[in-house]
Amino acid sequence: MKDIPMLDLYREYEYMKADIDAAINKCLEHQRWILGPEVKEFEAKVARYLNVKHCIGTSSGTDALVLSLRALAIQTKGQEYFDRTEEIITTPFTFTATGDAVLRSGARPAFVDIDPSTYNIDPRKVREYLNRNAMLPPAERAKVIGIIPVHLYGQSCDMDEIMNIAEKYNLFVVEDVAQAFGGMWKGKKLGSVGTTGAFSFFPSKNLGGFGDGGMITTNDDAVAELDRMLLKHGGKDKYNVDHIGYNARIDTLQAAVILAKLGYIDEFNTRRRNIAALYDEALKEIGETLLILPKSLPDAYHVYHQYTVNVSGREDLQSYLKGKGVASMVYYPFPLHKMKVFGEGRCSVAHNLENAEAAAKRVVSLPIEPLQTEEHSLYVAHCVRDFFKQ
Ligand SMILES: *Cc1c(COP(=O)(O)O)cnc(C)c1O
Repeated sequence: MKDIPMLDLYREYEYMKADIDAAINKCLEHQRWILGPEVKEFEAKVARYLNVKHCIGTSSGTDALVLSLRALAIQTKGQEYFDRTEEIITTPFTFTATGDAVLRSGARPAFVDIDPSTYNIDPRKVREYLNRNAMLPPAERAKVIGIIPVHLYGQSCDMDEIMNIAEKYNLFVVEDVAQAFGGMWKGKKLGSVGTTGAFSFFPSKNLGGFGDGGMITTNDDAVAELDRMLLKHGGKDKYNVDHIGYNARIDTLQAAVILAKLGYIDEFNTRRRNIAALYDEALKEIGETLLILPKSLPDAYHVYHQYTVNVSGREDLQSYLKGKGVASMVYYPFPLHKMKVFGEGRCSVAHNLENAEAAAKRVVSLPIEPLQTEEHSLYVAHCVRDFFKQ
């Protein structure tokens, strides 16, 4: 029987073994484990790749989000944290960390529904939320300060709309790029459009390290300087600090691994896009009433961190595929506003989040390992088609 996993990290390692082993061996020789030479080199190379002024390695994607928000609190209000009267708009259909980072910055997440065709936050609904808020009597109005668009599954949000809204309402924009390294909006790399970008190098991300890691991008010198302070305890001098900081540096070793893998990212994103195109072609005959395929915006360069379809009765499809040796996963089964952590008045909810709730019940992602053979991709598609013929 075939055994087709969601991802095959060992196979990827073998493919890049010479480069990765050399990078790790170099670290073993110099033993500079904290902010060693690879961290600087990684930050400079990635900044060039993304065409962004500053790139700051962090210990995870979650920390990249938290540090981005903390630096913005210090910069915009001169205080260490935001407070619960300050709202940051984001999507309820994302990994928990997006909303959790807002809570940890002191602010309140305001969840706005997604566009059901892209699964990304719907800019029209963001406008509606802000317009409605602006009509309220001043005493009842929420103080909205920022927005976190999440480029889910590797596809850019509509960044023209997001940036227009941000300008109109004077909001900062923290892009959550955890799933979209190398993705673009109208030719601009994601993470270079908003006020900051937060990336994750969690091993399963489309650019993954050998452990936790992340990165902040920004073109704002002051924010970059604050983030550099926050990630080493809150000061320029770690023995005499200014802010409530963290120990949130990226490891030298992770920076070395990411540097080695950076040379393959364009090839791997192309491979993902090719598998997606093969699935699109092979699955379209099933028809949208039974199986909705992912939609890609013409202005977005989609890097397919996930290939996610939408189906009613997904458990049956998943167990059928499992019986054929094909893995599948659900990202994400619970929208954030339904989680206990965002309860007890900790978040605001735009009146209706029905698209996020429907997606959480219906989405399922198929294997999209970049080194998956064409034969295996065709087999996956064949199994999905057979399921609907039963
Ligand atoms: C993975 C992920 C994060 C968090 O990244 P970590 O490196 O795991 O902390 C944040 N947001 C999204 C959308 C993610 O997929």
